[in-house]
Amino acid sequence: MTLRVLILGGTSEGRRLAEQLAKGARHAAVLSFAGRTESLVDPGVPFRVGGFGGVEGLVAHLEREGYHALIDATHPFAAQMSRHAADAALRVRLPLLRVECPPWSPVPGDRWTTVPDMGTAAAALGSAPRRVFLTIGRQELEAFAIAPQHDYLIRAVDPFAPLLPRARVIAERGPFEVDAEHRLLEDEKIEVLVSKNSGTPSTAAKLEAARRLGLEVVMVARPELPRVPTVHTAAGAMAWLDAQASMRRGV
Ligand code: NAP
Repeated sequence: MTLRVLILGGTSEGRRLAEQLAKGARHAAVLSFAGRTESLVDPGVPFRVGGFGGVEGLVAHLEREGYHALIDATHPFAAQMSRHAADAALRVRLPLLRVECPPWSPVPGDRWTTVPDMGTAAAALGSAPRRVFLTIGRQELEAFAIAPQHDYLIRAVDPFAPLLPRARVIAERGPFEVDAEHRLLEDEKIEVLVSKNSGTPSTAAKLEAARRLGLEVVMVARPELPRVPTVHTAAGAMAWLDAQASMRRGV
């Protein structure tokens, strides 16, 4: 049986799953984007962009479109969307799977300060001016308004004019390589790196580069997410979809 699947995207694993589904004809997927980036890359399956209008909107959407399964492949920090997905799946009795790569863990040589949120990350930079590499996207930058004394290099997918007084933006999309990250940190005389613990393999090179240079990393821990069945990879999600299809067929 072919399943109609809604994938809540925002990660490379969600995109990889959509691409795999586009190649085979096993299941029919629609990929949903929040619309946070201007330069959207076509995933090869039908896609939609923008919020659903809270849990109620998502429930109505799932019912109207007749989906058989919901896959939450959102960014680990998109906690609201994950909570809405869990609530809506329960209400419309839809099987829900989360696709999420494991968080990064420090290894010998790392100098991490792990903090619970962005405000604490900004405070952890200290009072003396430092050169900071901010790799947290652009949505939560206002947290750093409490620390305007630092020089910030901000990396984001799209260019924008930062509101922080001593900040510069480089617009780049991963994957990133260790040697290039090493060069960037050296050229920019970076003293401390701030990152969310996304665990994304394509953006992990900065951590190795920081380790090589002995730089401090302020690592923002993941928010609490609803407990739902979870796999780490697109391949795992594909196997889960096949199992759901077999169950529906009564195999
Ligand atoms: P969020 O706070 O969980 O979501 C806010 C609202 O955005 C949701 O309630 C939903 O609107 C809409 N939304 C989120 N993901 C969606 C999707 N895949 N399809 C359709 N609508 C979606 O997430 P966020 O505001 O996007 O980001 C929170 C954190 O995650 C930030 O730190 C951000 O940097 C990080 N992040 C997010 C993404 C992403 O693609 N969302 C990617 C990279 C990093 P309705 O309530 O109207 O349905």
